[in-house]
Amino acid sequence: MLTDAHVNFSHKDLINSVDQLIKEGREGGVTRFLAVNSNIYDIEIDYNLIKNYDFVDLTIGHHPFLCNEVDEKNFKALFNKSINDYKDKIKIIGETGLDFSYDTKPINQINSFKLHIETAIKNELPILIHVRDAFEETYKIIADYKSELKTILIHCFTGDDEYADKFNNLDCYFSITGIITFKNAEKLRSTVKKLPKNKIFFETDAPYLTPVPMRGEINKPSLLRHIIEYYCELTQENFDNIAKISSKNYERFISCQP
Ligand SMILES: [Zn+2]
Repeated sequence: MLTDAHVNFSHKDLINSVDQLIKEGREGGVTRFLAVNSNIYDIEIDYNLIKNYDFVDLTIGHHPFLCNEVDEKNFKALFNKSINDYKDKIKIIGETGLDFSYDTKPINQINSFKLHIETAIKNELPILIHVRDAFEETYKIIADYKSELKTILIHCFTGDDEYADKFNNLDCYFSITGIITFKNAEKLRSTVKKLPKNKIFFETDAPYLTPVPMRGEINKPSLLRHIIEYYCELTQENFDNIAKISSKNYERFISCQP
C-alpha cells in the first residue's frame, strides 16, 4: 500500500509507456499515484494519460521554470475550464512555486505562484509547491495566504532544519524523494529524519531523481520502494508502518485535512 505522490507521466521519457509503468508500479506495491501537470497548456494530454485509472489523481499547474510565458488572463480561463472539465481527476493546484536556481525572472515566478495560490483558494483545493533556492520568499508568500489556504505540500523537500520548522509551523506536508539516497545528501538526511511522521509522504518525481542504487536509469514508480526502504533504515522505522502512515498522510493532504 504505497503512494507515489509525484510522477511526471507526460515527460518524454515516460509518455510512451504510461500503462506499463503503472502496471509495474502496482506490482511493486504502489496503489495510488499522483500525476503532475507542470505545463498548464498540456493539461489535456496529462488527463488523457491517466483518465482510465481510478487510483491516479491529477494536478494542474505551470512550473516555475516555464513562467516566462505567463499570460494571466489565459491562465485563469484555462484553470476555470480544466478544473471543471476534469473535476473527476484534478485534486490539487500545482506544480507551482519558486526556483531561483533557474534563470526564469523571479517576478514572473512570483506572479504565477500567487495566481496559483488564488486559484487554490477559490476552488478550495490543496496546493503543491516546488521550492529551490527561494525558501524565504516562498515561506513569506505562503504565510501571507495561510489562513485562506487548504492543505499545502512542499514537494521534493530539500530545505534545512530552519525551513523544516518554519514550514511545519504553517502546517505544510513534505514529500521526500530519492535525493535522500544520494551520497552528498548528508545534511538533508539529518533534516528529513526530524520531519514529523504525520506530515510526510514519498514521491519518485519520475523520470527524475532515480534513487541509489539505480542511478543512471530512468526513474519510475516501481522504484518508490527503494526510497521508503532507505528512509526506514535511516529512521529505524518499520517499512509497513511507514507505508501505511505515509499513504494516510497523502489522503489527508488531498482531502484538505491538516
Ligand atoms: Zn518540482
